[in-house]
Order: sequence, then C-alpha cells, then structure tokens
Amino acid sequence: MQAPVVHESGRGSALEVRYPTLIVGGGTAGISLAARLRNAGRDGIAIVEPSDTHYYQPAWTLVGAGILPATETARPEASVIPRGVTWIQSRVAAIEPNANAVVLEDGRRIEYDELIVAPGLQLNWDAVDGLTDTLGANGVSSNYAYELAPKTWEYIRNFKGGRAIFTFPAGPIKCAGAPQKIMYLAADYFRKHGIKAEVVYASATPAIFGVKHYQAPLDKVIERYGIKTMFGHNLVAVDGAKREATFEMLDDPEKKRVTLSFDMIHVVPPQSAPDFIRNNALLAASDGPTKGYLRVDPATLQNPDYPNIFAIGDASSTPNSKTGAAIRAQAPVLVQNLLARAASKALPAKYNGYASCPLVTGYGKLILAEFDYDGNPTPSIPLIDTAKERWSMYMLKRHGLPWMYWNLMLKGKA
Ligand SMILES: Cc1cc2nc3c(=O)[nH]c(=O)nc-3n(C[C@H](O)[C@H](O)[C@H](O)COP(=O)(O)OP(=O)(O)OC[C@H]3O[C@@H](n4cnc5c(N)ncnc54)[C@H](O)[C@@H]3O)c2cc1C
Repeated sequence: MQAPVVHESGRGSALEVRYPTLIVGGGTAGISLAARLRNAGRDGIAIVEPSDTHYYQPAWTLVGAGILPATETARPEASVIPRGVTWIQSRVAAIEPNANAVVLEDGRRIEYDELIVAPGLQLNWDAVDGLTDTLGANGVSSNYAYELAPKTWEYIRNFKGGRAIFTFPAGPIKCAGAPQKIMYLAADYFRKHGIKAEVVYASATPAIFGVKHYQAPLDKVIERYGIKTMFGHNLVAVDGAKREATFEMLDDPEKKRVTLSFDMIHVVPPQSAPDFIRNNALLAASDGPTKGYLRVDPATLQNPDYPNIFAIGDASSTPNSKTGAAIRAQAPVLVQNLLARAASKALPAKYNGYASCPLVTGYGKLILAEFDYDGNPTPSIPLIDTAKERWSMYMLKRHGLPWMYWNLMLKGKA
C-alpha cells in the first residue's frame, strides 16, 4: 500500500491522519472555500486533490474558438493551495460518514472533524457509444476537456463547409450555456469567412435556455445565424469513421432514433456526481433531478443526516445551475455556517441559488444571464440591461473574469 503524497504548506504534518477540516477536491470550490476559511483564521485544513494542475474551465470556450491558448487556463495546483493548508495529493475512493473518515484510492484512511465535499462532476464519455474511440479525430471534439478544446478550434478554422453539429446531453451538466456558446462562435466564424455551413443544435433540453428571461434574446441570436434546432434529441452514438451521430428522440413514445451525418461535431458528455458519491447510499440524493449528488440542504449546504458534512460546487445536490459563479455565492455562505457551527450556533447563512452564465453569442458579443433558484433574474451590474448582447460584457468574460478568478476568487477575496 502506497502512502499518500502530502505537500505541506505551513501547518499540518505529513504524519497527521485526522484533520479538523478536510476538503475533498481542490478545484474552484475547494480552493476558494479553503482560502476564505484561512482568511477567517481557521487552522487545521487539508485538501485531498489528485491533480498537479488547476484549470480555469470557463475559458475553455474561448480556447475552442481560438481566442485564448489552452495554456492560459492552467496553473500548477501547488500555486493555488492557500498558505497554511495541507495538500494531500491523492483521490478519495469512499466516504465513511459513520466513522468520520475518507478512504483514499491507495487504501489510506484520513479522519476528519468536518468534511467539505467538492470533487466537481464526472464526465461520462463512455455513455455515448463509440465516442471515446473518435474523440479528437474525424471532426469530433469537446470543450469539456483541456486537451480537446484546442481541437475544437482546429476543426472550426479548417471547416470547409457542410454540417456542424453541437450537442447537449440529458441530465444536469456544468455550465449549461457552454454547449451553445461555442456554437455561436463557430457560426460567427463561418459567416465572417464566407463558409457555407448548416449549423445544428441537437439538445436533450426542451428549449434553448432554462431561464425564461433569456430565451427570447437567445432565440433572436439563433435566427440571426440561421441555426437549425433539434430539441429533445439526446446523443447516444457517434461513428467517427462514417461521420455519423445518432440521437434518441426523448419525446417520442417509442424513443425512435435518428442519425445525422456531420462534417464536425462538438460533443458535451453526459455528466454525474463522481462514482464514490453516487454509489454512497448514506450520502447521495436518492431521487428527483438531483439523484446521485451529495445531499445537502439547498440553503445551508449541510447534509441533513450528518451535520459535520457539507458540500459546495457541482457535486452537491443544490438545484442551481452548476457554475463557478454559483460557487462564488456559495462559498461565503458556507464559511459563515462553518464558523457558526464551530461556535455551537444555529447556521445563519442561506444560499439563494444564484448562478450566472456569460453567454458568448459571437466574437465581441455576450449576454450575461444571472438568476436564482426560481429562475428570477438577479442582475448584479447596475444600470445595464445584460440580457442584450454587449461588447462590454464580452470584455468582462475575456479579460475581467479570468483576472478575478486567479487573483480574487481563489484567494478568498471575491
Ligand atoms: C467548457 C466549460 C465552460 C464553462 N463556463 C463557465 C462559465 O462561463 N462561467 C461559470 O461560472 N462556470 C463555467 N463552467 C463551470 C465551472 O468550471 C464549474 O462549475 C466549476 O469549475 C465547478 O467547480 P467544482 O470545484 O465544483 O469542480 P471542479 O472545478 O471541476 O473541481 C473539482 C476538483 O476535484 C478533484 N477531484 C475529482 N475527483 C476527486 C476525488 N475522488 N478525490 C479528490 N479530488 C477529486 C478534481 O481533480 C478537481 O480538481 C464551465 C465549465 C466548462 C467545462
């Protein structure tokens, strides 16, 4: 059995196997939470994170459109672990809530006083027949992986005409806007370069966007580019050699299938909570749209059965739109609640489901969608109607948000 790699950055010792605060996952949620806890004076924090690299995933849309190099979206994990936090470089294989312990993939057990679960989503590429055999070849790409986003750009800029398909799978995904953003950028590129393209949006969803307020402006964008929409169509198979994609028609009583040929296809994989959560009968939500995610109260982010377990970010059962922006709203709530719990007080802070989605609608154009659990718009920028396409909001996405992410959010300051 191999011992976990432990990177010390201040307090905490490699020999310790019990931590007051143990965080699973050093992604957007895990790091921003740890930073805020350190800023609030907390000691004894450890993060279990297997990856050497931390990614700013929201910029992968820009990578896929040739606006940014992929390397600008990645930094060493060591550079984002807050000072004074111990990094255990390993992967959690199981949570044992009755023993207050997690089991690492190498068999080691780490105990905790309080556990924060933040491992993000699992991408289930294998759930689409034939997809893994052809990803990155035959015109098949996806912005949902660091290595593949540059391929999307390669296929867009080398597109000679024909059919370009953009898919959206059944079930919750991270950034529900990302499948359509890259489509608008591709359509804009084809138009500007005089390339004849039939652009198809084949989506398992019933409409272009789940929040009504933003549907009408997005419908106009679709009309402008002449995009053909196929709602209620779930991608089930890709044949790379034949360049064919097969969709199940979700509204058809017999679940009929339809096959389309393509010249390029941007695929968004089906997603779920990681297996170690969805297979944990004590912790996973057991029904409804949040089935399989780590069960927490949607307002306090606390597990109802194990009060020392909380979740933040994409892997939690909160029914918000899964985005980094949501985590920006969740992190201060969770910090307040953890501090109150430590002082034996009732949990005072409540998350309202805030999420935002910067919908890039072309090179230099963006609709900023911001909304809460009930789909009510919650604009945070005064005096500007961000439901209109704007250059200023595009500049925020291109320059402002990445800067804020690395310099403020991951440092617990925003
Ligand atoms: C193409 C794309 C575009 C997007 N666009 C936007 C956008 O415009 N705006 C926006 O707000 N959001 C956007 N997002 C979504 C945003 O990136 C995610 O919502 C956010 O990163 C979720 O944070 P998280 O910490 O929950 O998960 P992640 O950031 O994915 O981090 C999870 C971490 O947990 C680690 N981990 C996984 N399994 C284990 C395990 N078993 N044990 C320990 N650690 C583990 C992983 O290595 C990873 O580092 C986009 C995402 C993509 C892919």
